[in-house]
Amino acid sequence: MAATRNGAAIVCLTVALGILGSRVPAAQGRGTRATIAPDSPQALRDWDTRTQSMLRTGELRIRQVRADTLIPGDVVERADQYYRGVRVHGADISRQLDAQGVVRSVFGTLYEGIDLRSDPALTRDDVRARVTALAGADQADSSEPELVVLPQDQGRFRLAWRVRAVTPQVDVIQYFLDAATGDVLLQYSDRQSQSAVGRATGVLGDNKKISVTGSGGSFTARDLLRPPVIETEDMKGDPIRTLTYLRGLIPLGPADLAASTDNNWTDGAVNDAHIYAGYTYDYYFKRFGRRGLDGDNIRIRSLTNPVRRTPEDVTRYLDTFPDFFLNAFYNGGGVMVYGVGLPPDVTFGGQSWNHLSGALDVVAHELTHGVTEFTSNLIYRNESGALNEAFSDIIATSAEFFFQPAGSGPLKAEYRLAEDVITPGGLRSMDDPGLFGDPDHYSRRFLGAADNGGVHINSGIANQAFYLAVEGGTNRTSGLAVQGVGGANREQIEKVFYRAFTQMLPSDATFALARAATIQAARDLYGSNSAAERAVTQAWTAVGVN
Ligand SMILES: [Zn+2]
Repeated sequence: MAATRNGAAIVCLTVALGILGSRVPAAQGRGTRATIAPDSPQALRDWDTRTQSMLRTGELRIRQVRADTLIPGDVVERADQYYRGVRVHGADISRQLDAQGVVRSVFGTLYEGIDLRSDPALTRDDVRARVTALAGADQADSSEPELVVLPQDQGRFRLAWRVRAVTPQVDVIQYFLDAATGDVLLQYSDRQSQSAVGRATGVLGDNKKISVTGSGGSFTARDLLRPPVIETEDMKGDPIRTLTYLRGLIPLGPADLAASTDNNWTDGAVNDAHIYAGYTYDYYFKRFGRRGLDGDNIRIRSLTNPVRRTPEDVTRYLDTFPDFFLNAFYNGGGVMVYGVGLPPDVTFGGQSWNHLSGALDVVAHELTHGVTEFTSNLIYRNESGALNEAFSDIIATSAEFFFQPAGSGPLKAEYRLAEDVITPGGLRSMDDPGLFGDPDHYSRRFLGAADNGGVHINSGIANQAFYLAVEGGTNRTSGLAVQGVGGANREQIEKVFYRAFTQMLPSDATFALARAATIQAARDLYGSNSAAERAVTQAWTAVGVN
């Protein structure tokens, strides 16, 4: 399974909006609501002068500054209006600034003529008690009360406490309570979408839970339980759309997201890609405290069903898009693609190929290419490329042992790769790389140009070192024995390799450097002369890396 990248293309959609600035006049002594949408350079200058002044006086406060993802160098600022230090609810502006800091445009809503006392009679504790009585929610389920100015009809304003509470019926309600009396001034349901857990059938027919989004009576494959966006797309057998997206030429939209009407998920290829992405996230977090691929919860997006697993599509597309059948790959930026395999009665290389997302180790392998991209960024050729592949195999197998019982056969943890979906046997072996013609010793390394200099071949050497450091045993080529830490302590070797491969290795690392870094990592984590250091040292020596 290959790591591929493509240059990011920026699709810039410019939409001209002809909205005019408008002011709604109010009765004597009342406030005014201004809608900001300047439609001439002079109006833009006027509003820019006005907002600059309000920023200086603190009537506007910057809430958020973000790089514009569509126009490089541009920045989008959002600012909220304040009255005597209290935020005015629903009064904010968005300013678009170019690379020189010049305002391109500004849109927003502001209020003028607010006149009220800004000290509340009710305390925060009063408010919490009131919300508990109203919503039946205990205090842990409500947000910290926020004092706001609440604009009302006809230019009136009230000082209010705003609280967001989750009711026992799992509705989310925004309450605005009069800050003087506790009366409900406004309340509405804020449940735009809701985390839901459905039932799903995997590629291998296993039944399990799936974490999705429910909204308006339907369900989509977007996980709301875990911190990053984890979403799974159903490309519905459209290889052209898949390829066009991967080349950066079109975005994907809501219609591409895998969906279910009844939260009973039946497409195994979708379900396993989604569920195993969540498992892999959990493995990295629980084992290493790592938050996703980039350490900062970047979105994980999995593309499934790029073609259909039918004889017709094999005839039509196999020659043009072999990777959409017989490969799974990481496309950069948190995007994974899973091939569909081959129809049940078709074999390739003497093996049957099921949907590649149906194996936890395949999914964890691909996602680990993402972790490598954001850390060591091991160059995908020759020795560094073989280390890149080996690290993906090491984490893939470790994730299996984390979630599955040890053993052989479907849904069992073992030192084979993709064995659940490419049958019989899988693609590679860590305990005996030679079973698939891969080297288990540095003296047997592949020196040709094929496979980027043998990245999927020479990975066998580092895979065998990892296997021996955990389980112990004798290398078949050197005859050297290794005292492993034992399967019960596999966590130690996983942490050693994780630390070395994500924090120590440079992008052009060699096998010798991987040996040095893992030994150093073992000392850092478990001390000099620890069992882990001894196991790692012996393992590299046994595979001929010194
Ligand atoms: Zn790979």
